[in-house]
Amino acid sequence: MAVKSISPDILDRLKQTAPEISFVEQTQISCDGGNGALGHPRVFYTIGDEGYVECQYCDRAFVYAPRQGLPA
Ligand SMILES: [Zn+2]
Repeated sequence: MAVKSISPDILDRLKQTAPEISFVEQTQISCDGGNGALGHPRVFYTIGDEGYVECQYCDRAFVYAPRQGLPA
């Protein structure tokens, strides 16, 4: 049931493709796209085995990074 940490390869890809990466300490997250015109309806995601999710609306990435922060 433990969520794996994101692999460095995937993190590198997200840094190329995601407009923003949020590092979170919980696996249940929501996204509303941020402020103003860039927003979208609030959606909820659960981070699974891959250790991250990408918002289907705004492509923002949420990376599961408990305590130790960024993976090496
Ligand atoms: Zn979003």
